[in-house]
Amino acid sequence: MLDKTDEQKAITDMVRQFADEQILPNAERYDHEDAFPEPIVEQMRELGLFGVTIPEEYGGMGLDLTTYTLIVEELSRGWISISGIVNTHFIGSYLLMKFGTDEQRQKYLPRMATGEIRAAFSLSEPELGSDVQAIKTAAKKLDDGAYEINGQKMWVTNGLKAGLVFTLVKTDPGADPRHRGMTCFIAEKEPDVSENSGEYAGFTVPPQLKKMGYKGVESTELVFDGYRCPAENILGGEEVGLNKGFAQMMDALEVGRVNVAARGVGIAQRALELALRYSQERKTFGKQIADHQAIQFKLADMATQVEAARLLTLRAARLKDAGERSDLEAGMAKLFASEAGRFCVEESFRIHGGYGYSKEYEIERLYRDAPLLLIGEGTSEIQRMVIGKKLLQRHKI
Ligand SMILES: Cc1cc2nc3c(=O)[nH]c(=O)nc-3n(C[C@H](O)[C@H](O)[C@H](O)COP(=O)(O)OP(=O)(O)OC[C@H]3O[C@@H](n4cnc5c(N)ncnc54)[C@H](O)[C@@H]3O)c2cc1C
Repeated sequence: MLDKTDEQKAITDMVRQFADEQILPNAERYDHEDAFPEPIVEQMRELGLFGVTIPEEYGGMGLDLTTYTLIVEELSRGWISISGIVNTHFIGSYLLMKFGTDEQRQKYLPRMATGEIRAAFSLSEPELGSDVQAIKTAAKKLDDGAYEINGQKMWVTNGLKAGLVFTLVKTDPGADPRHRGMTCFIAEKEPDVSENSGEYAGFTVPPQLKKMGYKGVESTELVFDGYRCPAENILGGEEVGLNKGFAQMMDALEVGRVNVAARGVGIAQRALELALRYSQERKTFGKQIADHQAIQFKLADMATQVEAARLLTLRAARLKDAGERSDLEAGMAKLFASEAGRFCVEESFRIHGGYGYSKEYEIERLYRDAPLLLIGEGTSEIQRMVIGKKLLQRHKI
């Protein structure tokens, strides 16, 4: 499971070096200032990291989910905000590759592959996150054939800087079941502009939400107030895509879960590295703390969790790449790896003693960052619901 092809080895070595040289030395500064890491993102564009899974014919690298997963682990080991900048973009490109029309792929993928335009992904609203079918933001068809979107979205990662927001809205309020009345629109806007005008009028991005961690990358609300979206921006085209958005988004969430799992592995791995180092530097009762068995047990539990999380994550990615069912495995990987991230960060924090509470030490940032992974792409409770449901489907008597 851990074997890498020569290509995978070369690219993960390159990204690890990038994380060591460019991300880790700068992450604390950007985190403390809550500033967008523009120079790092610029280098990621040059390295082609916005087009990892986009086919070569559209200017991407055409690599598989397994390789992407390995890359995300390395980026997240550096700072999960950096992987967050790529992640919703990856989900957007996945949606286009799997469900988009030829015209939609031609129009967006080449510019997405270079990172010239970046994508966000918007399901959540102020009154809902887990219960996606309760979405209230609605689109209605106008006489000229375009759709008008009204409503409010919440917690949109990359909400300000993105040029495309894959937005799930209600298009048939009377649909029963509710999920049959939802459509994914490719909502275009000006990147980095709060109040859009002209053809994007009615699309407003309020000031960034203030967060405990996961700094640097913006999380925003989105307000749609009479925003016009042409029918050709329905994912998959109007004829095929209208009222099919829920299934499209749930499909994308499956790969999104593998992606969050990889972020869990990355942050857990970093927490372990910090603990291994600090425990050999700090002395108590006349010896390094690593010589106390209680500390060794913590290190052992952390290393075991990291390894298990990595294996589950790679298994889910490899199954998906092989075209096999991976819904259950993606849920397990997301659940286990995000909890492993939280566990390892907390254990590493404890090993750091009082210094873990200091902003001078990297573990303090990880302690604020790790909980996000328990929430995004479905909470741990939701993963257990997914796993339970899929288990029963697969083992029906
Ligand atoms: C920093 C950040 C970035 C985000 N980025 C995005 C993004 O880019 N796009 C996007 O669409 N969303 C994004 N989200 C939103 C995220 O997906 C939701 O917060 C998440 O799905 C949980 O939804 P909620 O916050 O509404 O919690 P709720 O759904 O209100 O849940 C509250 C609690 O109840 C539990 N719960 C809910 N239903 C059940 C049930 N049936 N059984 C048992 N327990 C249950 C949950 O597990 C949780 O513990 C982001 C969130 C954060 C914090």
